Amino acid sequence: MSRTIVVLNAGSSSIKFDIYEGSREIFRGEVSGLGATPQIQIRDCTKGTQEAGNLPEEEGRNHEAALLALLKRLDSVVDRSEIVAVGHRIVHGGHLHTRPRVIDEALLADLEGLVPLAPLHQPHNLSGVRAARHAFPKALQIACFDTAFHRGHPWTSDAFAIPREYYDEGVRRYGFHGLSYEYILTHLREHFPELAEGWVVAAHLGNGASMCGMRGGLSQESTMGFTALDGLPMGTRCGSIDPGVLLYLMTTKGMSADEITNLLYKQSGLKGLSGISQDMRELAASHSPGAKAAIDYFITRIRSELGALAASLGGLDTLVFTGGIGENSAQVRAGVCASSEWLGLSIDPAQNMARRSEGAIDITAQGSRVRVLVIPANEEEMIRRHTLSLLEQAG
Ligand code: ADP
Repeated sequence: MSRTIVVLNAGSSSIKFDIYEGSREIFRGEVSGLGATPQIQIRDCTKGTQEAGNLPEEEGRNHEAALLALLKRLDSVVDRSEIVAVGHRIVHGGHLHTRPRVIDEALLADLEGLVPLAPLHQPHNLSGVRAARHAFPKALQIACFDTAFHRGHPWTSDAFAIPREYYDEGVRRYGFHGLSYEYILTHLREHFPELAEGWVVAAHLGNGASMCGMRGGLSQESTMGFTALDGLPMGTRCGSIDPGVLLYLMTTKGMSADEITNLLYKQSGLKGLSGISQDMRELAASHSPGAKAAIDYFITRIRSELGALAASLGGLDTLVFTGGIGENSAQVRAGVCASSEWLGLSIDPAQNMARRSEGAIDITAQGSRVRVLVIPANEEEMIRRHTLSLLEQAG
């Protein structure tokens, strides 16, 4: 008999969930605008129907209320007692958790301790766990970490050049978006097996953005580091920054840790650069010089990291774009791949512009040595697979 499981992804202002019977997705739901103007969306994947609308403020006041609101609307079609496990996306697993784990009190306390390392995500991920424990008290709760995929990095890609004792206490380059990259590798293994073990650079470009260098089916290097601030500029996060800037902000401007946290996490990136928006669609539609400058900056940083990752891997066979921007912005993909013949990489402009189908597309130009693919992100599928496999282990 197929087992029914829930995959939960609790973000800062949204809670997304999928219900699967075995490998078949039967419902997908989301409450967005939590704590502000909550909205609910539920899709019946079997019938292909969707309902969407505003949610009363009371039902969208926090994650627990939102999960209950989603379940209430599904009560007539899904038997809650049949849910045997809930798989959670947990952004930070620290240096001890290298694979998915069943959640118990000790693990939960450990993960609470990592909140300062991922203040935008971890508290909400953990609220999702609490809400799911309440809603499905008999189900196994399973944590799937965004950091786990990167824990096998060589030491040179895992350490900062500060005294060793900091590394020993966990100040390391963790890397994030691991579930997304793991899915990319899984997709390559299933559809392009000749590419999966080679030199692969994947760019997950969404509100959060990072890149990952993989070789031999393993992550070797990530542009993200100790926190999800490092590397590429993002919707509102700064990406790589000279730590001297932080010293300047503290000593000369007298800014507090909270003020700097707010600046780097919420006011920077595309939003700070453009002065207009964090949203790539809005920037692409704008004629303002600030919007153009922000997009140019974003593309330039991706190009730099692509060169750096290829050099660090020792070669490049495949470049993969994923995430909301990676999947949908032909402009960004074209900018990243422009004048990259030196890397053996060129894309077919017509394929790149072609409207994206639901699935993966190959945008490689004829004669390009490097394959360039667009693969839709699917962290949920990875969480589903991990959850089922832990369920099987648990008997
Ligand atoms: P998250 O990291 O929150 O999961 P997504 O992966 O959904 O975010 O990516 C959101 C980003 O994708 C936004 O900047 C959005 O503007 C961008 N995006 C979505 N569709 C398009 C599009 N058609 N063209 C350009 N950018 C797009």
